[in-house]
Amino acid sequence: MIKRFAGYYKPHLHLFALDMFFAFLIAGIDLVFPVLSRQIINDFIPDQNLAMLVRYSLIALGLFVIRMFSSYVVGYWGHIMGARIEVDMKRDLFTHMQKLHHKFFDKNRTGQIMNRFTGDLFEVAELAHHGPEDLFISVVMLLGSFLILLTVNVPLTLIVFSFIAILIIFTLWRRVAMLKAFRAQKARHADLNSKLENSVTGIRLAKAFSNEAYEQDRFEYYNRQYYESKGQSFFQMSIFMMVNGFLTDLLNLSVIAVGGYFVFRGWINLGDLLAYILYVSFMLKPVRRLMEFTQQLQLGLSGLERFGEIMDTDPEIIDAPDAVDLDEIRGEIEFDQVAFRYNPEDSDVLKDFTLKIKPGEKVALVGASGVGKTTIAQLIPRFYEIQEGEIRLDGRDIRGIKLSALREKIGIVSQDVLIFYGTIKENILYGRPDATDDEVFEAAKRANIHNFILSLDKGYETIVGERGIMLSGGQKQRLSIARLFLKNPEILILDEATSALDNENEAIVQRSLEALADGRTAIIIAHRLSTLRSSDRIIVLDQGRIAEEGTEDALLEKKGIYWQLRRLGLGESENVVFA
Ligand code: ADP
Ligand code: MG
Repeated sequence: MIKRFAGYYKPHLHLFALDMFFAFLIAGIDLVFPVLSRQIINDFIPDQNLAMLVRYSLIALGLFVIRMFSSYVVGYWGHIMGARIEVDMKRDLFTHMQKLHHKFFDKNRTGQIMNRFTGDLFEVAELAHHGPEDLFISVVMLLGSFLILLTVNVPLTLIVFSFIAILIIFTLWRRVAMLKAFRAQKARHADLNSKLENSVTGIRLAKAFSNEAYEQDRFEYYNRQYYESKGQSFFQMSIFMMVNGFLTDLLNLSVIAVGGYFVFRGWINLGDLLAYILYVSFMLKPVRRLMEFTQQLQLGLSGLERFGEIMDTDPEIIDAPDAVDLDEIRGEIEFDQVAFRYNPEDSDVLKDFTLKIKPGEKVALVGASGVGKTTIAQLIPRFYEIQEGEIRLDGRDIRGIKLSALREKIGIVSQDVLIFYGTIKENILYGRPDATDDEVFEAAKRANIHNFILSLDKGYETIVGERGIMLSGGQKQRLSIARLFLKNPEILILDEATSALDNENEAIVQRSLEALADGRTAIIIAHRLSTLRSSDRIIVLDQGRIAEEGTEDALLEKKGIYWQLRRLGLGESENVVFA
């Protein structure tokens, strides 16, 4: 983990060196100033040596100007370095995430993944920048002043530094309790946010069930929990501040009281005492920095750990070294004795599943809900890896084809259409970003959505909402079909594409889909009779295998599973039959 982190410094070593150099200057100047002051008080003031007073003051002024400049460099370029490391890590995380298989996204919540990018990497960036710098400045300052003060007066130095040691140990100890409270608070905050996110997305559901009061209760609970965790944090923080402040006061007091006594006895002169007072006030800064460093270290390391978790997730489904590109394909699909399960501990969704689909053939998959229709659709673009057997495209094992080439040949229309925020044109262009305007219009015409788009005030430049809120289900579906007309895949998979639509919308979308399927190999996962009728062959699935297949008439005659499915769900209303 540390090694991976250190690797991110590599491209920015020059900034790192710059940061460290100027951090060193700052620490050095802080160390020198009390030495100058001591000399002024001990020698120049008693001698009324104006020339030397002026000279030393000018030296100090010069040093402060350098320090001013240095703190700018450290503040600006140090943060820039942290930000660049953050950018690099985010890029790597994003690249890796894009490669991850569907399984990963089945298991991880969107919010959690988002958190990796925002919260976690922010903490890592802060650590990247402040970590080495804080540690370095603090150590140089503490060690430097200790050594310098030792040359002035050994007993007083030992007394002062034992106090500082107590201060460090005590605050570190309290810090642990404080961090624990902070972490609990963060967790409660995340809970509250999840709850909120859930309630916002589900607000329609809550209203539909008149469950607002219940939601209110749940929210109140999380809100309260968060408040209480905050109370704990405040309590720990206040204790910490109290103890820390008191110890600091004691430190200052001990210097002046013990130091004053030393002056009485003539063991130390005033200038030396002043040097102690100055060092102690300067030293509180590195002590605080050291505390901040420990906190940043913890936050950064846990962020780094979670970053590593994703980076170490094996993409599993990647191009084989000898994977080939595809040119023109005929569009023949073959499942050969395929066995598949989602997770090792699950039972098989498909077993010994064999199916051959001819180029240009339209095959309908039917079967009870949960039988594995969608699964079959997801296996063709290789979203999941099968455990046994082979899936072939034009006679070639799909594992030997480049993923991008394979997926380019396949178009999927499902029930759930994702319209992203942007113009209608951008949404259609997603099918093939380099398409011309005319091609976009043509695709929209073929999807039966062109006239509707033109009827909008801004036409193709109309912005569609966060998830296409202002479009009806049928319009969204037709937009997604236009996307596919642009993409022009040889193989089409329709997974209950019209199941969310009412009859009227369904009829329009159905026409678009038929136009889209024309001349392509198509797998139609159907829930309505009208969809089935346009298919060449119906495959009935049961228990991971093909139970029956044939034309509709033949299947009905057989009075088997298909006949039963029809009887169960049908009532001749043409509404939801299967699925
Ligand atoms: P259908 O589309 O025929 O209704 P699916 O192919 O969606 O059925 O599901 C087949 C089986 O696989 C079901 O038992 C379902 O619970 C399971 N399943 C579907 N998707 C996943 C997934 N992402 N992870 C684990 N199991 C899944
Ligand atoms: Mg399904």
